Amino acid sequence: MNYQDERLQNIAKTLKKRIVETSNNPDVLRSVEMRALFDELKTLKEEQKASFGKELNMLRQDLTAQIKALKDSDEALPPIDVTAPFDLNIKSSEMPRLLPAEHGSRHPINTEFEKVLDIFYRMGFTVLESREIDNDFNMFEALNFPEGHPARDDYDTFVTVQKDQKGQPLIAPAHTSTMQNRALKSMKKNLEQGDPIALVIPGRVFRNEDLDARHEHTFYQLEGIYVDENVNVGNLISTIKTFLQEYYAKELAVRIQPSYFPFTEPSFEFTMSCPFCDNKGCNICSHSGWIEILGCGMIHPNVLKFAGIDSNKYTGFAWGGGIERLIMMKNNIEDIRHFEAGKLEFLRQFK
Ligand SMILES: [Zn+2]
Repeated sequence: MNYQDERLQNIAKTLKKRIVETSNNPDVLRSVEMRALFDELKTLKEEQKASFGKELNMLRQDLTAQIKALKDSDEALPPIDVTAPFDLNIKSSEMPRLLPAEHGSRHPINTEFEKVLDIFYRMGFTVLESREIDNDFNMFEALNFPEGHPARDDYDTFVTVQKDQKGQPLIAPAHTSTMQNRALKSMKKNLEQGDPIALVIPGRVFRNEDLDARHEHTFYQLEGIYVDENVNVGNLISTIKTFLQEYYAKELAVRIQPSYFPFTEPSFEFTMSCPFCDNKGCNICSHSGWIEILGCGMIHPNVLKFAGIDSNKYTGFAWGGGIERLIMMKNNIEDIRHFEAGKLEFLRQFK
């Protein structure tokens, strides 16, 4: 708006600026400047009064209109909802460009671990959580891998630069069996009371691997330990078979093949009939009809002795297997690296 009186032009500019700066302040209409102008009006002669009064009225309407416009635009903004999944604290004109964020979902490893552990709960096992850092004793010595044992090379993992009190580096566990000595020691009171030791131990493990579709540097294992009087290989086979049939919800044929681990004697590779082709042969089982699912065996007497358990009186079995492999078999997943890749395309399939 243009005012003939230059002074009014300047005052209009100043007050409009103040309305914005003081966040839509209606007191501007009763400001010192406005009061002075109205006081001045009263002193003017009739002929000046008419034109000055008209301009002054224009100025008041001009300021009132600006206050109203600012108030309206404020009301157009939505209230701030701090729990909203996207930013509401923006101008309404920009709203349509923002899409609400999606709700996340549980990682398939969490979901499947829960199912696996639930089966073992129902079979009478209790759960003990593994560690993500351990020492040479639990990783090797307590599991019957003495210093310099060649089988140590199969468990190449990561070590810390910092040493423990014995001057040894700490180790990122290459298998959940690092928990065996600790678990056996803490649970041996069960045996004294006439109860078995029945434990499953889920955990994250690490390997210094060349990565490919079947090898990952970080993955999850489930360890199982069962110790009591008169435990034999038949108990081992039936326990694992029962679990697998429950998990895959179908009848499976199983077989064991000789293998070698320093901490079990005898040691086995546990093999099941392919749940996809029922032993007929398909791409998943490399047309053999069979799938190697985990390593297992009867706990070596030395491992029981290291934990202070009488190996003449008690025997037991143990197993350890990768959880990703179980899930891959169940859902026809072709690459183990998907689990740690944070790829939404992969994760969304498990919502
Ligand atoms: Zn098959």
